[in-house]
Formats: sequence, C-alpha cells, structure tokens
Amino acid sequence: MKCALVRADGTTELTERHHTRAERGPAAVVESILDVAEGLTGKARAGGLTPVAVGLAIPGVVDESTGSAVWSANLGFRDVPLRELVTARLGLPAAVGHDVRAGGIAEARLGAGRGTRHVLFVAIGTGIAAAQVIDGSAFAGAHGAAGELGHIVVRPEGPHCGCGRLGCLEAVASAAAVGRRYTALTGIPATAAEVVTRASGGEATAERVWRETIEALADGLAIAQALYDTEVVVLGGGLAEAGADLLDPLGVALRQRLTFQTEPRLLRAALGDEAGCLGAALLALDTLEMT
Ligand SMILES: [Zn+2]
Repeated sequence: MKCALVRADGTTELTERHHTRAERGPAAVVESILDVAEGLTGKARAGGLTPVAVGLAIPGVVDESTGSAVWSANLGFRDVPLRELVTARLGLPAAVGHDVRAGGIAEARLGAGRGTRHVLFVAIGTGIAAAQVIDGSAFAGAHGAAGELGHIVVRPEGPHCGCGRLGCLEAVASAAAVGRRYTALTGIPATAAEVVTRASGGEATAERVWRETIEALADGLAIAQALYDTEVVVLGGGLAEAGADLLDPLGVALRQRLTFQTEPRLLRAALGDEAGCLGAALLALDTLEMT
C-alpha cells in the first residue's frame, strides 16, 4: 500500500508504505486499509493540517459510482463497499478508484501528460492496463472495466494469459513476460530490466526477446491509437524504467504500423510508482468540488 497526505495543489506532504499481506484474507486487508487511513489523518491533525477527504485506488474491477471494489484477484475483494466503510470509520467523504485509472489521472494532470487534453496512460508491469484520460477524467466503461489493453490478443498462437486466452499483449510483453521469455530461451532467470541491459550490451537472445517485446507493444499501441486517437501515450509501470531503450524503438515500430492515424507522442511517466496514490488523492478532492 502506497499512502500519502496530499495537499489540494497535488503536492505531497508525507508518504508511507505498508505491507498489504493479502494472505490474511480480504477482511483483514480492509481493516488494515482503514487503520492506515486513520493513522494518516491522525498524523495530519498532529501536524496542524485538516484532512478533508480520503481517496483509495484499488486494482481489479472497481465501481467508482458506488465506491466499491467489485472484484480484485490480488486482494480477494468481492463487492467490498470501501467508500462506505471509510466514511463510517473516519467521518470524511471518500472516493474509490481503479489503480491504473487513478495513475492515469495523476499523470495527465500533474505528470508527463500535463497540459494535454487527450492522454492514454499505459502501465506495463506484472500485467498491462491502460487508462484513457480526457480533460483530466478517466473513462471507466459501463462496468468499470475499460482500458484492459493487456488482454488484446496480439499473438494468437502465443503464451497462455492469466485470463484464459492465448497470446494476450500482457502474456507477451509485460515486464513479467519479458523475464519469463528470456528464462525459457536461456534457462537463466532474469528480470525485464536485466534483459534490457543485456540487449543493449549486444547479447543475441536478449536482443531477440526485447525486439519481440517492442513489436508486440507496437501492435497493441497501434490498436489503441485506432480506438482512442490520443494525443500522447504516457508509458508507466516497471518496464518504462527502460527509458529510451523502450521509447525509441517503440516509437519507430508504432510509426511503421500507423497508416491514416495520427501518431501520438510517446512519453515516459513522470510520477513513478506513486502515480496511483496521487490519483486517489485527486479523485478524493474531486468529490469535494462536486458537492
Ligand atoms: Zn488475457
């Protein structure tokens, strides 16, 4: 859990990290979330600040309108009314958002997409997911499940995906998939970051794995551009740490795939792994503006 006290202008007053320890079961995780939120409001008050709202960003399927975590595989959540629970415990208005959409909102308003109206935030880590952000608001879809770019099939004969299909983008090109692929070919365990380092050092297998990754990502982004016609694509998550080693070849490969579509600018995320946390705060502040 990445946690922060955030001021109304988006600057961070204090950050904390806590273990989720999901193995304890969903009820215990919810209790920890409430304890941590209560602790943060206590610290804010002790520092002379007045907490005004609470924002939570959760992975999985999130219903932002009811403030509930509909389904979250990692946390074991099923229809958890988080907004209600937070408000009951802390007496403050609360907003519950999806982690990638919250991250996208933060990148669009405060990070790499600042000053741009149309932003597609793509998080490439253990999985791949995207958030379409227009004028600072993320599109959630009819069922809270928009932006699942990781489950576009780019290699129909490709590796198994956790969702049950073959060759989904995240089964081929997530940070986790890059490491798995390299290990399958060489028998040597490696992280995506190590594969990138070896590829830029000229190691043939690493070069091949990285080239295949770039091509799959370019296929995915070309589909995304056909659907979203975005101005900028902000790349975040662990794989974006590769910086120019990712952005430069991906830009070239994407350009080759576009025909009549306008090429989006590819940018590296600016807020790192705190984007989701900052986005949760922005969602919380938005609830105050609406009332
Ligand atoms: Zn899938």
